Amino acid sequence: MTNNQPARVRYAPSPTGFFHVGGARTALYDYLLAKKTGGSFIIRIEDTDQKRYNPDSVRDLLDSLRYLGLDWDEGAEVGGDYGPYTQTERLDIYQKYSQQILDSGHAYRCFCSSERLAKVNEDRQKAKLNPGYDRFCRNIPPAEAERRAAAGEAFVLRIKIPLEGSVTGYDAIRGDITVANAVLNDAVLVKSNGIPTYHFAVVIDDHLMKITHIMRGEEWLGSFPIHVHLYNFLGFEMPVFAHLPVILNPAGKGKMSKRETRAPDGSVYPVFVHTFKELGYLPEALVNYLALLGWSYDGQTEIMSRQELIERFSLERVNASPASFNYDKLNNFNGIYIRQLSVEDLTDRLLPYLQADGINAKRDTLLKITPMIRERLTLLTDAADWVDFFFVDDLPDFDLNLLTPKKMSLQDVPGILQKAKEALSGIEFTHNELDAHLRQAAKELGIKAGQMFQPIRVAVCGKKVAPPIFGTLEALGKETTLKRLDLALEKLQNS
Ligand code: GLU
Repeated sequence: MTNNQPARVRYAPSPTGFFHVGGARTALYDYLLAKKTGGSFIIRIEDTDQKRYNPDSVRDLLDSLRYLGLDWDEGAEVGGDYGPYTQTERLDIYQKYSQQILDSGHAYRCFCSSERLAKVNEDRQKAKLNPGYDRFCRNIPPAEAERRAAAGEAFVLRIKIPLEGSVTGYDAIRGDITVANAVLNDAVLVKSNGIPTYHFAVVIDDHLMKITHIMRGEEWLGSFPIHVHLYNFLGFEMPVFAHLPVILNPAGKGKMSKRETRAPDGSVYPVFVHTFKELGYLPEALVNYLALLGWSYDGQTEIMSRQELIERFSLERVNASPASFNYDKLNNFNGIYIRQLSVEDLTDRLLPYLQADGINAKRDTLLKITPMIRERLTLLTDAADWVDFFFVDDLPDFDLNLLTPKKMSLQDVPGILQKAKEALSGIEFTHNELDAHLRQAAKELGIKAGQMFQPIRVAVCGKKVAPPIFGTLEALGKETTLKRLDLALEKLQNS
């Protein structure tokens, strides 16, 4: 399989929990390779472990992939020529291969009870051996096993790993991987309820779906030799395998957390894709960042569009050594991507976040505000604090002392606000007019421009930190501005 032939690449999650950003990186690499070669990106749901099945998980996965823009050509919800794409809907397909591998002598029925298996493991633990099966049923004559099964005795199907020699599989990132058969376990292929395990189903499905490249996390390296045996036993051609490096936590010590916990103030280090979305990461930024988490183009270029990533991606430049998740770098990317958006686009992306924060933002007004706050945003959710006061009828109460300009006292404020009202009431609310008249007013009062602006800003925004004053007044409009100045004067009088 060369890089130029259309690749068929699948992302094959087990729906056991929310979609983790590590899975998103795998799915992204799958997508990039498929698109680069003009091939297909496929989503297959591996739900054979019904004990760990979580029904919300599939919805979360598909929504998250769509948020990232990793649209798939075949698979869950979209269908395709190689379906069904959910493993529990394929049980009859696996049946045929169970019979085939049993008949060929590469698998055997195991009748051991769970009590016996627990005891075996206990003994192995005492002997300081890895958990595993002692091959008690491996040599039951096939005819006898057949009879016991026919009589209704429960059994699982196990792979018959050769007792000697070794097995070698090729990994595109790591080269040949050779493992002694002696360390492998006779893993279960089909459980007693007839449902295949991951090992068996994954190999059959990748073959039947004509998958050409399998990328998956390094944690699957341990299963790789078993899969190589299965390919050989079933007579399937091996696809290209690539085991991706693990993602380390920001400290670079240990794997990135599988779960996320929120502090009482709501802050969180996101690990689930939906949380990145909730916090206001742009999919473009997250995709670009994830692409670099284990792959590089030339070791230097960092900001790359989706199209550039597609053109430049190659398995050869995936790194074997683990990469550390760096939130600061991701935040930096997000800011860069926010500033690359047009005002219209950024405004439209901000609207749902403001809505979610209970801010009833008007698009027309927000269009005027967006250019003023764009430089100040790291996350889309940062916007709320900058714009909330534009979209309320009445400002929430604020500390009147905030009105006091530098080097002045609260008693000076009513005079300044009075003067501001006079300066503003006769003019048009354009940037230039506001600028000229407010500076003139400050001059007439014999104070600095900043001392003039501070009480006005606090009176109309209810806080000291807000977008630039002239643009703010312009977006608020004359009526609201004058009303809020009056209200501040009134409060001062009553205090
Ligand atoms: N279902 C496996 C998982 O949840 C897929 C591993 C593989 O890609 O082979 O990660």
